[in-house]
Amino acid sequence: MTERLDAFMARANAAYYARHDPFADFTTAPEIAQVFGELLGAWAAVTWQAMGAPEPVILAEAGPGRGTLMDDALRMIRATAPAFARALRLHLVETSPRLRALASRRLPDAEWHARVEDLPDGPLLLLANEFLDALPIRQFVRRGAGWTERFVDGGAFVEAPAPCLPSSDQCGEDGAIREICEPAIALAAHLGARLARDGGAALFLDYGPERSAPGDSLQALRGGRPADPLADPGEADLTAHVDFAAIAAAARAAGAAAWGPVPQGWFLARLGLYQRTGRLAAANPARAPGLLAAAQRLAEPNRMGRLFKVLAMTHPALPAPAGFEP
Ligand code: SAH
Repeated sequence: MTERLDAFMARANAAYYARHDPFADFTTAPEIAQVFGELLGAWAAVTWQAMGAPEPVILAEAGPGRGTLMDDALRMIRATAPAFARALRLHLVETSPRLRALASRRLPDAEWHARVEDLPDGPLLLLANEFLDALPIRQFVRRGAGWTERFVDGGAFVEAPAPCLPSSDQCGEDGAIREICEPAIALAAHLGARLARDGGAALFLDYGPERSAPGDSLQALRGGRPADPLADPGEADLTAHVDFAAIAAAARAAGAAAWGPVPQGWFLARLGLYQRTGRLAAANPARAPGLLAAAQRLAEPNRMGRLFKVLAMTHPALPAPAGFEP
């Protein structure tokens, strides 16, 4: 069977998330420190105020995994923003039945959806951590004066002539690889139009470069180790770098404002990562070293602080969201 790379990646990841505990293979920010979800809860509460405190408001998460981020966010919201806690309706977007079952233990009041496009209308606050990197990509290879597209056949890449890419892409050395993530661009266009119409904001945290760049970023993690992305579909988690610039451009073209991307370490520090960690440490002195180490892992440039970025989309009339002020 010959499959275009995006079809292969979609099939492999659907099987992977249905069968495996992804958290045996990789650790995400909410699983590292409770303060991560708490700060995003505080961000949502502040943004809700900036929106004019609409009631009801949809609080949604795309790809909630085990539900840890939203559980931590809701604890912070209930403690510090009771009016927002009363106004919000929780909606989760998840395709894996296995992860739905896991997260619904922690978040029993949520409504579930298969796609962001299925969320009900109205003012929206959407959070998504390490969601976009799991969406399927296409890869094009510069060959001579043209391009080929990569397909997967029997665990190896084969190339077939591709239609022309947009003119901005008509450069690169022979063999250079261009990636596009069509579902991410479509999602950004959908959200951009919806936020401009109904109000609200969306926050994406993920890894990738600040500017679009050529290169092969497809990677697989299996048992916590890098693996061959084309071998044994469904046994490894497949991801690719997120093209934040392309996503921001699609959201803007659809009518929303886009902010960032800014480095995750910078963003979390601005939201009060170290102050909050200090308070938690003071309340639990025995846990202090672990809490500080976790905060550093999220924020330091040589750990997750620089490769991970944060992008926001908002209704065009909203001011710069918290963490994005100039
Ligand atoms: N946000 C969580 C989990 C990240 S793993 C965390 O930070 O820990 C990626 C998540 O996105 C998983 O929950 C996976 O099932 C979900 N996912 C992947 N592709 C999806 C798709 N196309 N639609 C909906 N959910 C998807």
